[in-house]
Amino acid sequence: MNVSVAIAGAAGRMGRALLRATIEASDLRLAGGVVRAGSTGIGQDLGELAGLSPFGIRATSDVAAAGADVWVDFTNPTATLNALALLVGAAAPRAAIIGATGFSPEEEAKLASYGERLALVRASNFSLGVSLLASLVRQAASKLTDGWDIEIIEAHHRRKVDAPSGTALTLGDAAAKGRGADLGAVRLAPRDGATGARPEGGIGFAVVRGGGIIGAHDVVFASEHEVLTLSHQALDRSVFAHGALAAARWAAGKPPGLYSMSDVLGLA
Ligand code: NAD
Repeated sequence: MNVSVAIAGAAGRMGRALLRATIEASDLRLAGGVVRAGSTGIGQDLGELAGLSPFGIRATSDVAAAGADVWVDFTNPTATLNALALLVGAAAPRAAIIGATGFSPEEEAKLASYGERLALVRASNFSLGVSLLASLVRQAASKLTDGWDIEIIEAHHRRKVDAPSGTALTLGDAAAKGRGADLGAVRLAPRDGATGARPEGGIGFAVVRGGGIIGAHDVVFASEHEVLTLSHQALDRSVFAHGALAAARWAAGKPPGLYSMSDVLGLA
């Protein structure tokens, strides 16, 4: 039976890519698309929002109206948590795919609590390459210890509102875990002015914002004698959409729980 999917943030960059990928997938059924209250997207045909021919379902701002097996949400932390609060009371969906980034620690805890009610797949980056990169970074960090500094450089388009990116933090977390540390304890503050020398064992982040860059991440391991860089670039937003829909297919029949792309891809 086809898995039905509702897309939250349907008028956004990722929302439109998700609408397109869902409509084009023969084993998925697009059940609805939700846009922000007051958005000019309300009432627009979901196919037309995706840049395709009319699909016959119109975008709504009513979360409950978009009943589906799986809720796919690439909005923002506030909108995601508000939608989940409404959805857990309803019979459907039983699964949610959360792509929004920039959650505060309190919001993270709230989000995780929904894993008790829904099969919730959460990833700061739904690409296969980044999921593999995180495990390579963890492995490298566990081997390159004394005398090796770790820096993470990320670049995104000028409209991105959170920094460092959720992906950069995921990679930092993988590096910290490789060294048996907690990222919160070893994360270096952004550099500006008289910073002093670099502390041993810290993990630093550098952020580039400009133009239409979809997403680029470098994890740099530097010693006095050599530099190893592990690098990933997203060339097309559809890579995240296809990964999120792979997660939707996987999560549709799963029991409640908090899952990652490592679970979906069998890397865990
Ligand atoms: P965007 O600003 O183009 O889209 C977000 C959309 O959500 C907007 O259209 C906005 O109007 C809408 N929105 C806001 N509140 C809403 C509400 N209450 N109900 C419905 N819609 C609402 O941004 P984007 O580039 O599409 O990114 C969206 C999010 O996804 C960001 O947090 C971004 O960091 C994240 N992202 C994650 C991945 C990943 O692989 N996990 C990849 C790309 C982007």
